[in-house]
Amino acid sequence: MRAYVAVGSNLGDRWGRLAQAARALRAAPGVAVVRGSRVWDAAPVGPPQPRYLNAVLELETTRTPGSLLALLRQVEQAAGRTRDVHWGARTLDLDLLLFGDLTVREPGLTVPHPGMESRRFVLAPLAELHPELVVPGTGLRVWRLLEESPELDLEPVGGYPL
Ligand code: ADP
Ligand code: MG
Repeated sequence: MRAYVAVGSNLGDRWGRLAQAARALRAAPGVAVVRGSRVWDAAPVGPPQPRYLNAVLELETTRTPGSLLALLRQVEQAAGRTRDVHWGARTLDLDLLLFGDLTVREPGLTVPHPGMESRRFVLAPLAELHPELVVPGTGLRVWRLLEESPELDLEPVGGYPL
């Protein structure tokens, strides 16, 4: 199944964390990293905190959504992620955006990822990979959602460190 994962970091060595995420996912059983978007430097949304690097990875996986999420949590932990402030600063945030055209609503796992349809820091990198993709539940394509999303201060700063 084709899956898209949002990668974000706003603490410490942000570029290093992005590279670490790709490496860890590539090394995991049942996951191939197909390609990455560019990396975007974005203003934080939520409480005051440092700016983010945001990107999206396209994966091909034989895992279930739940098993992929468990892996994402492991990789976050390995990157030194601690869970304290909701929406607060983090060394590495990995969100499962899309899993094929599946809709999942389980305790602890919602796909498409809640809020992705209006977040520019997710839609801009996702549009680089798959602008024509229709986001389940919205009936709209990624490029269209990007057009309609609220303005945000963000700019591309380089290629994904794969
Ligand atoms: P956020 O990413 O919203 O800033 P966290 O990374 O701390 O916050 O995630 C909060 C919770 O969201 C996690 O405990 C996780 O179980 C849940 N969650 C639900 N759906 C998803 C998803 N599609 N991808 C990642 N986490 C998810
Ligand atoms: Mg998260």
